[in-house]
Amino acid sequence: ENVHDKIDYVFKVVVIGDSAVGKTQILSRFAKNAFSFDSKSTIGVEFQTRTATINGKVIKAQIWDTAGQERYRAVTSAYYRGALGAMLVYDITKRQSFDHVARWVDELRAQADSSIVIMLIGNKGDLVDQRVVHAEDAVEFAEEQGLFFSETSALSGENVETAFCKLLEQIHRVV
Ligand code: GDP
Ligand code: MG
Repeated sequence: ENVHDKIDYVFKVVVIGDSAVGKTQILSRFAKNAFSFDSKSTIGVEFQTRTATINGKVIKAQIWDTAGQERYRAVTSAYYRGALGAMLVYDITKRQSFDHVARWVDELRAQADSSIVIMLIGNKGDLVDQRVVHAEDAVEFAEEQGLFFSETSALSGENVETAFCKLLEQIHRVV
């Protein structure tokens, strides 16, 4: 990072969703443009940062990863404190991970700031032949709940940058 870069905003973003949906890999793709097939439960690393210019403003995104606290109600309120945005991730090849999205939204409504911007993410978009969650169902849910929505692939990188930047742009509109 260039010391001469002026940071206009620091936005805290949390990544949530069931275990193994690809949260750590999406974050890794956005923060380091890297991907790993054998990602272990993240130990030690609490957040990663990435600076992006959105609408002419230099925004430093501080993005928090749950690091194995994905069981229902296991994520502590400290994790959500000060978060302006959330990436709520499910796996398009795992029905249960989509069925649990409503719980995660409830959790956000209960624990996070009421103005938090939520981006619903259907990940593993590269595994099209194993798809069980149709994008139309996710679009409908997102519209009902007032969420933004995108399908991504942390593996290929498709839409990861676009989805994060869209989230940061929406946060910038409300701050
Ligand atoms: P987390 O538990 O939600 O943090 O999930 P991880 O990021 O650790 O990913 C779980 C597994 O899914 C790992 O084996 C990843 O390599 C794999 N994975 C993550 N994202 C993708 C993706 O977009 N496509 C495919 N094919 N595999 C992925
Ligand atoms: Mg993880």
